[in-house]
Amino acid sequence: MTFPRLRSRPVTLSWRIAICGALWGCLAAGSILCGDEYFFLKKNGTEVQVRGRVIVEAEDGGALIEDRAGRLWAAESDQIVKREKDQVPFARLDADKMAEAVLDQLPDGFDVHKTAHYLICYNTSPAYARWCGGLFERLYRAFNNFWDRQGMTLSEPAGLLVAIIFSDERTYREYAVVELGESVHSIVGYYNLMTNRVVMYDLTGAQKIRQAKDRVRQSVEINRVLSRPEAASLVATIIHEATHQIAFNCGMQTRLADVPIWVSEGIAMYFETPDLKSSRGWRGLGAVNRTRLKRFHSPNRSRPADSIRVLLSDDRWIQGRAEDPRFQGREAVLDAYAEAWCLAYYLIKHHPDEFVKYMQLLAEKRPLQQDTAEQRVADFERFFGTLPGLEQKFLRQMSRVR
Ligand SMILES: [Zn+2]
Repeated sequence: MTFPRLRSRPVTLSWRIAICGALWGCLAAGSILCGDEYFFLKKNGTEVQVRGRVIVEAEDGGALIEDRAGRLWAAESDQIVKREKDQVPFARLDADKMAEAVLDQLPDGFDVHKTAHYLICYNTSPAYARWCGGLFERLYRAFNNFWDRQGMTLSEPAGLLVAIIFSDERTYREYAVVELGESVHSIVGYYNLMTNRVVMYDLTGAQKIRQAKDRVRQSVEINRVLSRPEAASLVATIIHEATHQIAFNCGMQTRLADVPIWVSEGIAMYFETPDLKSSRGWRGLGAVNRTRLKRFHSPNRSRPADSIRVLLSDDRWIQGRAEDPRFQGREAVLDAYAEAWCLAYYLIKHHPDEFVKYMQLLAEKRPLQQDTAEQRVADFERFFGTLPGLEQKFLRQMSRVR
């Protein structure tokens, strides 16, 4: 079975490239400001008012702005009509204001379910929203506990993490097509780097769940439906995207920073398969990801001779956009994802301390500052040694994993 999310990554990441490459050619050397401001932006012919802080200021007056809901706005100088200082220090919206802001952008009929770290806006059954809230919180705990044990303490998110759940695929698509374009037909859920939100739809078919008589039975029914083998990749997609959201909100990664894509994807794949039969959710965290491993061992897969160097220095392979036609398109993307999972798995298992140090270095990367290919390789080799030596050990170890 294929994983629909694989087609989702180039979409969100292409924004990153578009912004890094096109709008920010004149980027100043990372001026980071903290004051709160009102921005009057002209976007697509309409004026938008954004209250937030400047994350990066470009030399020509363009700016990357984070608003109080956590959304990023990339504004070129000619799109900024006016700026006004605000005396109130920058802070993310509280739960009520955040709910108001999100509901304002959704069709009528949405409700809100709040958990310790999540704000779930939904128009499906409350039981499914609660179930997702529980799943996300278990993922959040599992993710934090895992990295804490590895020696990397993460921070609390600046505000609630927002997930939007549509009741059915059709209304989800109507909403998501604006963000995903044609890819919406193959994507069941995604994390949007710019809005900082996860968007998805009810994977169970809400009606069946509503027929269950009480909360416990509803939850049991959801687990029953989503524990079926044919639902595994759908649930994995949602977890994969929710993992991206946590990583970008807890100090592990910075949105629009130049972190090699294989790292983000490798980590999301490391966590992507929950154990719905376990109340803890991730009994087998870090277990072998069979789908990825099978692909990695496939004799038919395409693999550049110096694949680790390619993964490190050139994101185009994992995006299916490599110059070499052998490494273009969907199959190449799946091959690159398999390689990325294997590399993350190998490094976490066999070089855990170095991997944490590498992650801490990447966590320092600032938004919209592009590293050279040489710098990316040097960052990696600093912790793991030279690539040819590492590659040999990597391939030897992975050949033993079954
Ligand atoms: Zn991903």
